[in-house]
Amino acid sequence: MAILPILIAPDPILKTKSERIDTIDESIRQLAADMFETMYNEEGIGLAAVQVGVLKRILVTDVTWRTREEMGDIESGEQYVLINPEIIEDSGDEHVYKEGCLSLPSQFSEVTRPSEVRVRYQDLDGKSQEQTFDGLLATCIQHEIDHLNGIIFVDHISSVKRDMILRKLTKQKRAGVFDHHEHDHVHGEHCNHG
Ligand SMILES: [Zn+2]
Repeated sequence: MAILPILIAPDPILKTKSERIDTIDESIRQLAADMFETMYNEEGIGLAAVQVGVLKRILVTDVTWRTREEMGDIESGEQYVLINPEIIEDSGDEHVYKEGCLSLPSQFSEVTRPSEVRVRYQDLDGKSQEQTFDGLLATCIQHEIDHLNGIIFVDHISSVKRDMILRKLTKQKRAGVFDHHEHDHVHGEHCNHG
C-alpha cells in the first residue's frame, strides 16, 4: 500500500475525462487499496483516480470511517469501490450540500445535486452492480463521478466565486503551501472532503 500525491486544482489533468477500465486485474485492486490509504491519510470521504493522476474510471468512498480515540488512527467504515460508474436514474430534486475536495484544500461551497441516485458500476471482482445511494453517499458519489468526467465542484458555482477560489489556490501552490500538506492540513470539516 502506498500514499499517493494528490493533484491540487487548477491542474489540466483534473479537467481531463478518465478512460473506461476494460480489465479489472491486480493492478486495479492495488490502485483501489492505495486510493483508500491516500484518502484516509487526508481524512477525506471519497477519491477519484484522476486526483492521484491516474486517468481511469474508478472511485473509492467511505463516508462512515471513524478516528480510533486510543490510537488516533482511522478505523474504516463501509467502503465502496465503483468502477466505470454511471448514473442511470436520479431523484430529480435539489439537495444543497456544502462540498469540499482534497484537490481544493480548505475550500468549500454549496452545490446543488439530486439527493438520490441509482448507479450502475462494476465492483473489484468485475461483477456488474446496480445500487441506489442517498444522503452523504449520494452527494459524494456524484462529486467523484464528476471528477471522472473532468469536472470539479467549483464548476457548479458562479464563475466569479470559482475564479476567486482557483486564484487563491494558484497563489498558495506558488508559495509552496501544499508541498507538505499532509502534515499541516486543516482539520475539521473533514466530512466534506472528496
Ligand atoms: Zn473532489
